[in-house]
Amino acid sequence: MIIDSTQYNGKCACGREHKMETILSVVECGCLHEFERYLSTAEIHGVRTAVYDENTYRATADRHPRADHEIVLPSEDLHANEHGVDLLLEKLPTDTQVLIAVGSGTVHDIVRYCAYQKGMTFISCPTAASVDGFCSSVAAMTWHGCKKTLTAVAPKIVIADIDIIKNAPIRLARSGFGDMIGKYVALTDWKISSHLTGEFYCKRIADMTADATAQVLESASGIVAGDEAAYTKLMYGLLLSGLAMQMMGNSRPASGAEHHISHLIEMHPESLGVHSDALHGEKVGVGTLLAIREYQAICHDTSITFRDYARYSKEQIVSVFGETMAEEIIAENAKDAADGVSAEKLMECLDVIRHEILSMPDADTLEGVYKTLGVKSSLSDIDVAPETLPALLDCSPMVRNRLTWMRLRKCIVRKEEESHAVQR
Ligand SMILES: [Zn+2]
Ligand SMILES: [Zn+2]
Repeated sequence: MIIDSTQYNGKCACGREHKMETILSVVECGCLHEFERYLSTAEIHGVRTAVYDENTYRATADRHPRADHEIVLPSEDLHANEHGVDLLLEKLPTDTQVLIAVGSGTVHDIVRYCAYQKGMTFISCPTAASVDGFCSSVAAMTWHGCKKTLTAVAPKIVIADIDIIKNAPIRLARSGFGDMIGKYVALTDWKISSHLTGEFYCKRIADMTADATAQVLESASGIVAGDEAAYTKLMYGLLLSGLAMQMMGNSRPASGAEHHISHLIEMHPESLGVHSDALHGEKVGVGTLLAIREYQAICHDTSITFRDYARYSKEQIVSVFGETMAEEIIAENAKDAADGVSAEKLMECLDVIRHEILSMPDADTLEGVYKTLGVKSSLSDIDVAPETLPALLDCSPMVRNRLTWMRLRKCIVRKEEESHAVQR
């Protein structure tokens, strides 16, 4: 399967002109053997450095892309953070013009960030269907302990060899599945925001992401069986979601409240006492079920009303994140995406908000699919204490200044609260 992303270039009904960095993505068995041919078709020339970690170097031993230099990063303790970046920059030959990532999400984020910093052409060779970031133009990094989405560069071409991908540990595919199922929430958040604030919305990008998600949902049973076609679908979905982010210029279509829950767990502020070694998509998968359950609760509550949106106070942020981390979070929320959302507007949009929320699959149905595939579905599955749930829901929107329904939850006034207030 070949995705020719030049088809997305040009003027769109949303009013913007979309520009894709990625020319083509190949999702096929054995396509790494054809690496030279694809590079010359795309007219990519120059001194090449291929970057692996120890595992992916071994996994691709019979089909390493030809490169002038090879760098093998240690698999142990390798993260997409400032240390990972330093590790690569120390070894990176200065004559490199084309930087090739052969690995999963972490290797990709490190390589794409360095390629951007050094102005090098970036080529992606995913070795596992673990995340949707392969095609994106941003790098998801933990920078000095804080989750950050940093400007990076999108790959010119993507060569996704299904022979390699379907033989990667199945936990990675489960993680990719979780990352993709999160799009239901992300797309709902985006749509709700466009209704409430008039935030830019592109139907074409949203439809692309929804199509990618549907493909992945379909692939679930085949993944367990190690079916080649199912892995192709999963990988196609992951790449398409990344291309949608590229069209958008940020992660809006692919990341909403479910990702914020995952980011908060990853930042593990001391006050929350959470820590999890789960993979990105595993946390997103759990965050997705939590968010859908929470969102759907308002659909059946006929008594709710709203108050105007009020920002998080500095004290609140400090009490959750502690002095050191709070500085970044305060800066992140300095220009609040939900400013100006009034009780009146929320009431006016309530029906369409409910409609958007009910368009997501039901949480129990999704959980059934998770079980079929063996995907982690609860906080305890990812070693997070279930008692932290209220704090995760309340505090996760702080990590990213983006309008989500989770951020607007504090505007909800329930009947009981109202009567307490009157009694007081
Ligand atoms: Zn558009
Ligand atoms: Zn993700």
